[in-house]
Amino acid sequence: MAWQGSTRRSRLPKNWPTIRRRVLRRDKGVCQTRFSDGQLCGAVATDVDHIVPGDDHSVANLRALCGWCHARKSASEGGTAAARTRVRTERPKPTHPALED
Ligand SMILES: [Zn+2]
Repeated sequence: MAWQGSTRRSRLPKNWPTIRRRVLRRDKGVCQTRFSDGQLCGAVATDVDHIVPGDDHSVANLRALCGWCHARKSASEGGTAAARTRVRTERPKPTHPALED
């Protein structure tokens, strides 16, 4: 599995809780994922994600994500192309015109 820990760095700075809080506040506690159609996820953010994975813990490299988007991103960083393809199938479908009043 991709969870061996050898390639995945998790060295967080001592003031990570402060940084994390700052990012969540900056992003208004809302998930910053933008889907391929340009729509913002907008779910309640529970996680703070490194935009570029690594040791850059500056707020410019961080963003608030909901748990679902973070898990999905982590999965795609693990190299599973399936995680990326799934985005397309899970997009909300438009209501069928025949069902609208
Ligand atoms: Zn999200």
